[in-house]
Amino acid sequence: MKQTEEEGRKSPACGYGLMGLCCFSCLLGPCRISPFEGESAKGLCGDNVDLMVAKNLLHLVAGEAAGGLKNLSEAVQNLGALAVKQGARKRPGKEVLKGILEKYGFTSRVSVNRFAHYLLRESQKLLSPFSGPESPSPLLSSLYPEGAFPHVYRETILPDSLTNLIFDALSQGEKESPAVQVILRQCLKISMVKLISEELRRDIDYLTDGDPSPEMGTEVLDVVEDLPPEPLPVVVLLVRDDDLPEEFMSRATKELRQRLKGIARLIPLKNMRGLPSIGRGFFRKWSLPVNGMSAVAAVFSQSPASVLGALVCGFSVVSSPALPIHGSEVVERFFCKDLKEKLGCAYVPPRAGEVLPAILEFLGEKA
Ligand code: SF4
Repeated sequence: MKQTEEEGRKSPACGYGLMGLCCFSCLLGPCRISPFEGESAKGLCGDNVDLMVAKNLLHLVAGEAAGGLKNLSEAVQNLGALAVKQGARKRPGKEVLKGILEKYGFTSRVSVNRFAHYLLRESQKLLSPFSGPESPSPLLSSLYPEGAFPHVYRETILPDSLTNLIFDALSQGEKESPAVQVILRQCLKISMVKLISEELRRDIDYLTDGDPSPEMGTEVLDVVEDLPPEPLPVVVLLVRDDDLPEEFMSRATKELRQRLKGIARLIPLKNMRGLPSIGRGFFRKWSLPVNGMSAVAAVFSQSPASVLGALVCGFSVVSSPALPIHGSEVVERFFCKDLKEKLGCAYVPPRAGEVLPAILEFLGEKA
């Protein structure tokens, strides 16, 4: 698996950037801080290593989430036009539609048009910058039922308005910096924005286009449904990286499946929006939240929102490339230790750059 990853990434990455210690957020920079400079080292604006690493991560996640919001806004506009015309371009398939209706608390007896109006109205509210905590969106409790994701309610990670969080994150630097922990919580909340936007967009696209792309299928839920009746350790393999060779997914799946035989069940996944589906599936099957099980996500992706998204769904996460957090002890401790107490799961850094030994260590097995 390591060899395949290396084939995909030929040019060496910037060592400062890998640790989160290179900032170009304003025209004074770029500023770089050497990990050997000690705690007094600062960027020209006065940000210390902890703030620099935390803000860099926030900018990365916010940029991705903004892209997700744009896609969702376009999908909602399309849905609005079609709802007025009373129907989808193609008729949605019955089975997938039934699954989507159930997810949002509807039965198959409801008309597609009535459901489309509901989804349109609630998505518009969720996108509005004027939504607040006084009127939580019913879409959120449909996508993240409290039984399956208790930690996102306990730790108030669910966003009120998808848009406001992005505005807040992108305006960092124009106001006094909040505490590092506050920025890191923002990172987690914003990764939820990305997850929510992607899943809503997929469901809306399905209503408007009717014809699901292969990734819209129910195969992930079928895999969960086919798991044994008693809970067992699970490894989710999430590969969403255009830079990796095409056959990486099948090779990694084969290798991991062999290595995990008798230890854990493997669920391959091509898109982060399948993560909440898996969480809901586990709860339906075993009445357990993801963070109440031995569940780890191996994420091969350049997208930090995918890594953090798996964390907020309750998975412990090993990723390649690693999160750019190791330039700051405070940030590293937050993701690798403190989250264990708060969310019941944590980030597990790759061992010597390798994912498999970290997964096995997490599962209590020797590499
Ligand atoms: S925001 Fe601060 S650390 Fe970043 S480039 Fe500007 S001066 Fe340097």
